[in-house]
Amino acid sequence: MRKPIIAGNWKMNGTITEATILVEELKSLLGTEELPCDVVLCPPFTTLATVLDLVDETLIGVGAQNMDYHESGAFTGEVSPAMITEVGAQYVILGHSERREYYGETDAAVNAKIKAAFQYDLTPIVCVGESLEQREANHTKAWIEGQLEGAFKDIPKEEAMETVIAYEPIWAIGTGKTATADQAEEVCRDIRKKMAHLYDVETAEAIRIQYGGSVKGSNAKELLSEPNIDGALVGGASLIAADFKAIIDGT
Ligand code: 13P
Repeated sequence: MRKPIIAGNWKMNGTITEATILVEELKSLLGTEELPCDVVLCPPFTTLATVLDLVDETLIGVGAQNMDYHESGAFTGEVSPAMITEVGAQYVILGHSERREYYGETDAAVNAKIKAAFQYDLTPIVCVGESLEQREANHTKAWIEGQLEGAFKDIPKEEAMETVIAYEPIWAIGTGKTATADQAEEVCRDIRKKMAHLYDVETAEAIRIQYGGSVKGSNAKELLSEPNIDGALVGGASLIAADFKAIIDGT
């Protein structure tokens, strides 16, 4: 059985003060009971250390939202895998559509970043997803298969099994337009099939696949009840403790 994983991608939101309030609220809502799923917070780099301190001795995990794949060097503005591991994070989001669209991140870069993440004991959350034009032209399946082929090139099976894949249709991100549970399930099922084709059924069955795009407390349960949707990557609703808790409760 795959354990569900709910991750909050805070994007470029949260000063240290705001992050502290949000995490404290979430901690008190979640209490000290065992969590029903893996819970991961992905704040901006500047609040990683603060958030890690705040969740110390809880079951909440922490991830970065991006990283460079080089070891170190003249890459102004970038953060290395070693830096993220050293601060104590366990996860890293890679290939988010905003990184691809605004910062020109390619499948080849995502592939190099997945390799670097595993070298530094980070679990990658690899994002894929189609635009509205691609969906309307019936190109969703082919496009996402291409993204997966590029991202997982030469990634060994043992690492692929540990990877989390997030299916985030670009048209559903921050738009309030959620994919229906059927639409999301169909693509997540195709993603699993593609991973079985790239590796084998055992690998595909082990991989956790999240849906992301306007997930909220009110739609989480329906999405998460689909057989191939193992969690959610949550943007806006992860910034409000009660909303994020409601999504966790939907697992
Ligand atoms: P929203 O939940 O705000 O639509 O964002 C989704 C997302 O991009 C998470 O990575």
